[in-house]
Amino acid sequence: MPDVPSVKIPEGLVYLDNNATTACFPEVVAAMAPYWVAAFGNAESSHFAGRLARRAVESARMTVANALGADLGQIFFTSGATEGNNWIFQAFADSRPDARRIVVSSIEHKSVLNAAKRLEAFGFEVALLPVTPDGVVDLAAAHELITPGTGLVSVQLANNETGVIQPVRELTELTHEAGAFFHCDAVQALGKMSFSLEDLGVDSAAFSAHKIHGPKGAGFVYLRAGANRFPFPMPLAGGGQERGVRPGTHNVPGIVGLAKAMEMLPGADALAKMQTLRDGFETAVLAAVPGSRVNGASAKRLPNTTNLFVPGVPSEALLSHMQLLCVSTGSACNSGAVGSSYVLHAMSISDDVAGSSIRLSSSVQTGWHDFEQALQYIVEARQKALELI
Ligand code: PMP
Repeated sequence: MPDVPSVKIPEGLVYLDNNATTACFPEVVAAMAPYWVAAFGNAESSHFAGRLARRAVESARMTVANALGADLGQIFFTSGATEGNNWIFQAFADSRPDARRIVVSSIEHKSVLNAAKRLEAFGFEVALLPVTPDGVVDLAAAHELITPGTGLVSVQLANNETGVIQPVRELTELTHEAGAFFHCDAVQALGKMSFSLEDLGVDSAAFSAHKIHGPKGAGFVYLRAGANRFPFPMPLAGGGQERGVRPGTHNVPGIVGLAKAMEMLPGADALAKMQTLRDGFETAVLAAVPGSRVNGASAKRLPNTTNLFVPGVPSEALLSHMQLLCVSTGSACNSGAVGSSYVLHAMSISDDVAGSSIRLSSSVQTGWHDFEQALQYIVEARQKALELI
């Protein structure tokens, strides 16, 4: 084997951007390893190498289905949640020209918002569900907007920037009363809260491996009605993979890694510990930084996310003074965008506050020492930035 190149990680680096992506668990990397070199077959080939790959894919499907209490026929592997979200919108556009209203929350990930927006060009009407100042979808507005003539409603289970958990159960009921289809972007909720897709009543949901210590470029869609009863034609034309619903050669190592990560999802104790550490950090930072506050603090939130307002310092300036702290402003997929977070804006948070807010997100790999170090970086960076203003 050739030498593995080393990547130098600076001492003192603290990673608190797990909502952007997570480190692969070593067990995940180990599980994937054989499927790059030894068991490299195409899962559709009928010879021995193909059958080996096929078995790995189907075993992974079983693991994923078991972890979610779903049936094998409800799980479809994709390249990730951007694809999964687009899939549903595209399929919907092709199949429901009669129901031309699409309702999505104003704080969806861009892969939902832009997939919806794209359909406007084809004569669909997109209505944005507002959120309360806490960042929770406004149910009174949902009653008004989700009416007969609505074909598709899409609301995330938890927000990537604030961690705020959304009232999906109530929304699926409303959606089904209106005769519409409910899609849920459940990417950020997986591995950070317990939920049952069945109880939530969603018709479809999109997931991504790299947010749960699995590999990038792998994910899956849950379809409640499975492939046969799924009423829409699928956007990608190709071979018969994934029961003809999502063609394309299987990413076998990615799928195996995804399944391993699903097996390793944290249990209740690990989530409680995650929350205790995060809450401890919030108490400490609010005490140490005058005037600071946590956006969305009074809503139910994921146990790993803190959206922190640090007064008086634009977030980009703050970040520039703490190079060893990996955190973000807004979501990673949107961090190139100019201006402050559209999620915070939707929560009626002023531009000043939104422009001075940063997102910190932990994982089961985060310890108290990481939070302590992060606090020190924030306090020092704020001091430096204030001196320069
Ligand atoms: N939805 C949410 C809420 C996300 O946070 C992300 C990742 N930033 C995605 C969708 C997109 O997932 P992927 O990276 O797998 O395309």
